[in-house]
Amino acid sequence: MRNHFIFIFTLLTITVSCSDGGGKEVENHWPYAGITYEIFIQSFYDSDGDGIGDINGVIKKLDHVKELGANAIWFMPIMPSPSYHKYDVTDYKAIHPDYGTMDDFKKLLDEAHKKDIKIVIDMIINHTSTEHPWFQESKKSRDNPFRDYYVWAQKDTIADYINKKTITLDSDNIRQWHDPGFGTDYYYGFFYGGMPDLNFDNPKVREEIFEIGRFWLEEVGVDGFRLDAAKHIFPDDRPEDNHAFWKEFRDRMTAIKPDIYLVGEVYDRKEIVAPYLPGLPALFNFDFHYTLIESYQKEDGMLLANKQKGVLDFYLDITKDFIDATFSSNHDQPRLLNSLDENPRKLKQAINILMTMPGAPYLYYGEEIGMLGNKPDEHIREPFLWDIKANDKGRTKWIEPIYSIDETVTPLAIQKSMSTSYFNHYKEIIKLRNSNRALALGNLELYEGELPKPVMAFFRMHKNQDVFVAHNLSDLEVRLEVPEDYQHLIYNYGMAELEGKQVKLPAYASVVIERED
Ligand code: CA
Repeated sequence: MRNHFIFIFTLLTITVSCSDGGGKEVENHWPYAGITYEIFIQSFYDSDGDGIGDINGVIKKLDHVKELGANAIWFMPIMPSPSYHKYDVTDYKAIHPDYGTMDDFKKLLDEAHKKDIKIVIDMIINHTSTEHPWFQESKKSRDNPFRDYYVWAQKDTIADYINKKTITLDSDNIRQWHDPGFGTDYYYGFFYGGMPDLNFDNPKVREEIFEIGRFWLEEVGVDGFRLDAAKHIFPDDRPEDNHAFWKEFRDRMTAIKPDIYLVGEVYDRKEIVAPYLPGLPALFNFDFHYTLIESYQKEDGMLLANKQKGVLDFYLDITKDFIDATFSSNHDQPRLLNSLDENPRKLKQAINILMTMPGAPYLYYGEEIGMLGNKPDEHIREPFLWDIKANDKGRTKWIEPIYSIDETVTPLAIQKSMSTSYFNHYKEIIKLRNSNRALALGNLELYEGELPKPVMAFFRMHKNQDVFVAHNLSDLEVRLEVPEDYQHLIYNYGMAELEGKQVKLPAYASVVIERED
């Protein structure tokens, strides 16, 4: 057996505990194994009645994040931008006026920190908006001082590329070179024409970016950054340059804030993702997300466990210092319930799987009340339902929702009083994870005995605690042998029964059984 996570334990400098009043203590294992809640402020809580969510609305709802059991918040972009999603920035040192002011944001930081909630903001540096002053200058002429902030090429030198169609996982875009509408030069924009890529071969651009990082860390006081589109800083054929840039970025940011948290979006397979670890110590695990859904489609329980073991082994070959940012869904994926045939039992079990596996799980706002949503993107980012519509003062109205409405999603206020609600389910399984070190910090060992195909079974071990975890990913009842000495049922979802050396798992049941020596 290999104790994969031993290295990670040594990096845990602070573990904050508090009594939950009911036996085991709830612990805060962020960033290595704690939980981060992703918020799209636009859709979260509107405090001033203009229909758009805002920072003061988030302040009002910090207790919701706390009650759920999350340790940190990742905010999707908060800087000025012409688009509703704000992934095309026009000013890197300000707050979007729809969301509030810099003072509001600093107050949010204070309030969050008082509640022991860390704040991570989206940092979009691969590209800017075409409306950013740098691009407005850059496009003026070839000898403008900002020309080289972006990537320009003469039309006839890139003729072969102009209409080349590129299919990538993370972009609906099909062409990367764009005509500004005059002259003979085209500019490069990986995602679309409204997002021209910055030129990171230009040292002045790199210094601008480091200065922006300094500003948010030193003058504002955020805890870290989520780095958008991290593999596109340089083109696809220059991966080593990408890796080197992020290493430089990390060094520069760590010099300012030694405990800075950096999580990168490298939307790809583990082989492409892992080499970024030296620069981006936390990386989103897209394999986890897709394999979770595939496991249900194929009713193949060990698919995800095997995949996850492979990812962790692969990462360890690169570095021992990493954070595996697992997630059930995010703002770019259909809502998890939609990906799981809108089956409530599958959703509840999927979150059981996320919370019983290694990693530092991310939860997308609204998943905890079973919100629905599908492409186009706006509709996986619909308004949060705090209460029934007539009573919901904070519900945002910037978009007309088509998936998450009172008829399809039970609002939070109602769910709080229902023992079987999604919200209470999320709270319970998160608390289980946060109060059992084997689940939060333990290594992953696969169950090697005979298993019915729909069953996922594995062990999590940490110092004095060993647990056996089993999930039945089908709607048929199954039985399996429980390994010797595992007798203490500490979690039972779906009315499983321990019968001597066997456990009976009804449809979509999950169990966590602790070892007793
Ligand atoms: Ca508002």
